[in-house]
Amino acid sequence: MNIDEIFDFTSFNIDREPHIVLDPNVCVGCDSRGCTNCCPARCYTYNEEEQKMTFVHDGCLECGTCYVVCELKAFTRWGYPKGGYGVAYRMT
Ligand code: SF4
Ligand code: SF4
Repeated sequence: MNIDEIFDFTSFNIDREPHIVLDPNVCVGCDSRGCTNCCPARCYTYNEEEQKMTFVHDGCLECGTCYVVCELKAFTRWGYPKGGYGVAYRMT
């Protein structure tokens, strides 16, 4: 099953208060930008022209990968959504 198929089996109840908050200023000094390759939901986007990192929490699958790969821990907040919010998976 690929990531696009996984999205067919998910739904989201999005909290307007983000559970992950990125400090994009820290990202300016990052050489790897591992988040852009590793986030399965493509929540991280780097604009080369503007040299600006953007993060959108809406489609976060709560896998935790970005926290592990980010060596600079460029987060002012990193957690999971409050109860009742976030992703819901179903298997069938
Ligand atoms: S890996 Fe961390 S510091 Fe580097 S671009 Fe991604 S969030 Fe920013
Ligand atoms: S927890 Fe997973 S899905 Fe959510 S932003 Fe981080 S890498 Fe992407």
